[in-house]
Amino acid sequence: MDATKTLKSQCDAGCLHCGAPLTQKEGPGRLRQFCTAEHGRSWRRRMRHAGWL
Ligand SMILES: [Zn+2]
Repeated sequence: MDATKTLKSQCDAGCLHCGAPLTQKEGPGRLRQFCTAEHGRSWRRRMRHAGWL
């Protein structure tokens, strides 16, 4: 964690499931980590199967 940068500027890598670029909305709110809700579900399912969650 680099405290000199905002949290959002460090989280622009794209969808965690497929890597598609994401546009983060400015201002307060949750970070987008997946391009679709379905990709969020797929990623969490994969992590759970891998024993990460
Ligand atoms: Zn995706």
